[in-house]
Amino acid sequence: QPYKGLPYDRVGQIRRENLSPGTLTFYKRPVLVHQGHMQWLFDHEGRRYLDMFAGIVTVSVGHSHPKVVQTLKEQADLLWHTTNIYWHPKIHEYAEKLASKMPGDLKVVYFVNSGSEANDLAMLMARMHTRRYDVISFRNAYHGTSPYMMGVTALGNWRFQVPAGFGVQQTINPDVYRGPWGGAHCRDSPVQTERTCACAAGECQACDGYVDQLQDVLRHSHPQTGIAGFFAESIQGVGGTVQYPKGYLKKAFELVREKGGVCISDEVQTGLGRTGDHYWGFEMHDVIPDIVTMAKGMGNGIPLAAVVTTPEIAACMSPSNAVHFNTFGGNPLSCAVGSTVLDVLEEDKCQERCRVVGTYLLEQLSTLRDEFDIVGDVRGKGLMVGLELVADKESKKPLPPSEMAAIFEATKDMGLLIGKSGLYGTCLRIKPPMCITQDDVDFTVAVLRKAFTDHVNSK
Ligand code: PMP
Repeated sequence: QPYKGLPYDRVGQIRRENLSPGTLTFYKRPVLVHQGHMQWLFDHEGRRYLDMFAGIVTVSVGHSHPKVVQTLKEQADLLWHTTNIYWHPKIHEYAEKLASKMPGDLKVVYFVNSGSEANDLAMLMARMHTRRYDVISFRNAYHGTSPYMMGVTALGNWRFQVPAGFGVQQTINPDVYRGPWGGAHCRDSPVQTERTCACAAGECQACDGYVDQLQDVLRHSHPQTGIAGFFAESIQGVGGTVQYPKGYLKKAFELVREKGGVCISDEVQTGLGRTGDHYWGFEMHDVIPDIVTMAKGMGNGIPLAAVVTTPEIAACMSPSNAVHFNTFGGNPLSCAVGSTVLDVLEEDKCQERCRVVGTYLLEQLSTLRDEFDIVGDVRGKGLMVGLELVADKESKKPLPPSEMAAIFEATKDMGLLIGKSGLYGTCLRIKPPMCITQDDVDFTVAVLRKAFTDHVNSK
């Protein structure tokens, strides 16, 4: 459709004058997005971009997927909002469907509107259920920006200079690329990596180093009191697609449970089949958490998030204890969309596509790692992928910000939208809508190859 919105420069002026200066914007000349269709975005001048970042891993089945649009329109015609003081069928249909996707005893669902809210609620439940207070998360973790989550999120560039959450400690993230014990070949990824620790594949000894650190945090901070809970993403997302050695999370969960805590898996980015082999990211670690939080892709871009837990833990939120109220949580419109998204994920065979196309993407990217000195690491699983750019492969010194920015801008100018993050801002992130094809992978790899080649030639 033709663009009829505000002129580009006027948008820039309003952004400077009327929006928070803290609003994150990608690119020196930002993209003014006008329309979307499946894996494509179109700007105000009708220029088409391949969207390999999906609004930060949020558009799961595709921009304006026809079936989701149809559901939205039908539900909007019928009813948008009531709050949960009345019954309506959509929240019940959807809760049952979502619970059927969960393993073990994870059957009780609470609906909220964002990942931060979901994690806040998970933290509250962990504290109420265990009657303990402290929680542990990873360094380099991102779990949201609410006052509770500011303490649990532990990525330097996302922290404000205010006291950030009480009763939260961090343990080292078992980062097999940058961590002191290595373990890269023991991560669950189709991309072969050099052996970086002395173990046989599958029995990662590097893992023990990272587990000892968690032991240490427990020993120093909680010798008698025990803990309320432990937060972990299945693969760190905003932290830069950081993967853990196989076996780590299983051992960590055991330790946490020994200390009386509950294990919380943040599936905001890794859920719904994105990692390919499994529907939930935690399944690749062979664990079943006590509480699972999810958001982003479950609404395909419509605000929707959830906490799923066991009846035993859920009992801490019973009305005799406290009423759980959330005005928009579980509204008919979001639940109708969420329910359709679950159907479309099946119908469009999204998990299978993540596995097949994601593996192809990782294999193609690993050729770039072998070709270019600046590609330090290629990692991930399914369509949850990262490339870490370095100034020097040996020392793993991050690529300087100006060089990173030039590469990033060049990919956009060639019609490719990807993400960047990590502690140094040097991890290129590729987490597209799950409808992409092998042709889209070929285009992505060609654009990156050209951007890296130009970078080399500019030196
Ligand atoms: N958890 C993870 C793993 C996330 O990536 C994010 C958002 N980037 C959140 C929680 C917070 O979600 P929201 O922005 O919806 O509050």
